[in-house]
Amino acid sequence: MRIVLIGPPGAGKGTQARVLAGLLAVPAISSGDLFRAETSRGSALGELVRRHTDAGELVPDELTATLVTRRLREPDAADGFLLDGYPRTVGQSELLERALDEDGTVLDAVIALDLPDDEIVRRLTGRRVCPACGTTVHTVFSPPRVPDRCDGCAGPLVRRADDTEETVLRRLAVYAEQTVPLLRWYTDRELLRPVDATGTVPEVCDRMRSALSLGAR
Ligand SMILES: [Zn+2]
Repeated sequence: MRIVLIGPPGAGKGTQARVLAGLLAVPAISSGDLFRAETSRGSALGELVRRHTDAGELVPDELTATLVTRRLREPDAADGFLLDGYPRTVGQSELLERALDEDGTVLDAVIALDLPDDEIVRRLTGRRVCPACGTTVHTVFSPPRVPDRCDGCAGPLVRRADDTEETVLRRLAVYAEQTVPLLRWYTDRELLRPVDATGTVPEVCDRMRSALSLGAR
């Protein structure tokens, strides 16, 4: 199956991408991973990617599409793939559609994880990290044994600047602005499968299976 997975920050998209890719026995492919791999190889394209990311700019759609298309044409993706968080915009989805069309293939479905804003805020603002050893906890979902202290090294836990309510709400606004047209685009193509992302990882996974008509485990 050829699947695109879309989801807001805090919806557990990375985790669900791994689970679903394993289930479908296809590679999970994210543009962020492709950027990192290409820059660490030091290729000409990697240097181009680095120039944009170093300047704090988005990598241009055409460049991202080149990297994604090349990855989709590798042998392990011949029978299917799961694109994790790509495309993000209608422009990117048009480039993807064109590349698949050249290969004589189409997407089977686009899964859109759906989570209420207040739940996203609750999940993201509760995250705490230990700057000393990198341990991550959550004040609600995985609280440390001693409040505000790292279980690993007993150092003080801090909240990242990205995880304040104000920043989370701003990220959600950007996500909605980009994603609403994208969801409409895939609805028009009868590919969109909205999936409720509340609850546990196995619960969400079961809903994704139903959305793809994969049957029960
Ligand atoms: Zn620590």
